[in-house]
Amino acid sequence: MRQGQQRNIAILGSTGSIGTQALDVVRKNPELFGIEILTAQYNDELLVAQAIEFRPNAVVIVDESKYKKVFDALNPLDIKVYTGASALNSVVQMESIDMVLTALVGYAGLIPTIKAIEAGKHIALANKETLVVAGQLITDLCRQYKVDLLPVDSEHSAIFQCLAGEWHNPIEKIILTASGGPFRGKLRSDLMHVGPKEALKHPNWSMGSKITIDSASLMNKGLEVIEAKWLFDVNIDQIEVVVHPQSIIHSLVQFTDGSIKAQMGLPDMKLPIQYALAYPNRIPSDFPRFDFSQYGSLTFEKPDLETFRNLGLAFEAMQKGGNTPCVLNSANEVAVEQFLKEKIGFMEMSEIIEACMAKVPYIAKPVLDDYISSDEEARRIAKELVGIS
Ligand code: NAD
Ligand code: MG
Repeated sequence: MRQGQQRNIAILGSTGSIGTQALDVVRKNPELFGIEILTAQYNDELLVAQAIEFRPNAVVIVDESKYKKVFDALNPLDIKVYTGASALNSVVQMESIDMVLTALVGYAGLIPTIKAIEAGKHIALANKETLVVAGQLITDLCRQYKVDLLPVDSEHSAIFQCLAGEWHNPIEKIILTASGGPFRGKLRSDLMHVGPKEALKHPNWSMGSKITIDSASLMNKGLEVIEAKWLFDVNIDQIEVVVHPQSIIHSLVQFTDGSIKAQMGLPDMKLPIQYALAYPNRIPSDFPRFDFSQYGSLTFEKPDLETFRNLGLAFEAMQKGGNTPCVLNSANEVAVEQFLKEKIGFMEMSEIIEACMAKVPYIAKPVLDDYISSDEEARRIAKELVGIS
């Protein structure tokens, strides 16, 4: 990646938790970063405010009913306005973009990410679901088009930072840390009746609702295991999950001599975001610093796979490979949505995912069309199980 020049960035999902924090980083470093594209699904007001401040080349408001409002606000400023999900696929190819930050949620990130890679754009990847769904395809395309795939997820950024200067040294094991979420220490019987209100209370991080529920069910860690497999080219048995409730050690790498490197800091997503945006440079920040004297101990424990079945299901899906991780992800998206709407209970999410993994026909070597059809089929079955269509 070239150095010394302003880096022009497209942010897919600029109104979300990652998107707004990325704009905080850009706001502090105007000489380093320019904003070419901003996109949002529904939040027209924030999108317009961001566009007025950052003056991108173009914006996308996915929800077509908001198009006129956004167009009327931004057209006089010479900012192009597009609408509809497919607009994401074309804006990412714009000549002037150097890097695309995928900060949108879920499967919706897949096709825009593919289009961006095919247009030669470096990817700062927050949207882990894309790598879960189609890890082989995405990593093959990145190699083919010679683009960097830079992790934004804090655990993967930690691993990536530990690997700097070690690219030639084989990895023995990756140790992914997990906070354990709001239900750490609870048993299955405790979780039968918890609703979205309790599940949305994450102890250490403030994030979008989908990933917050995934953190409570440990599906987030499961998705991250699969994400790590593809980003760092390791086998599933080289990945271990350790619960570390303080979220200070963001993850670790063990090398073949037994040495372990960890990356630490206070939990603040702006750090991994700016590491990806500015890579390979570290840029100064005024984020609060970790103070060892404030923490008597950092603790570690094994994840409870009995209570949090989603983590085990993710390991299973990865082991099976093919289209199974795609099915796991799509079923989970439906389950989380229905849990948030209070249509199903917390423990039912795993049941739906497991049933979909058993029912969607297995495809050993999926191509893009297979992922698209597996996603549709998993959603159809998951909705049927919930009793909606
Ligand atoms: P969020 O819900 O706060 O924001 C999502 C953004 O994407 C919004 O701008 C929304 O308008 C847009 N969006 C949502 N659905 C869309 C769709 N179908 N099509 C187009 N745009 C859509 O989510 P978030 O917490 O910022 O998470 C974004 C991604 O980053 C997720 O994949 C998540 O797993 C990952 N991530 C988030 C965090 C975090 O701290 N929030 C940490 C690590 C990884
Ligand atoms: Mg994470």
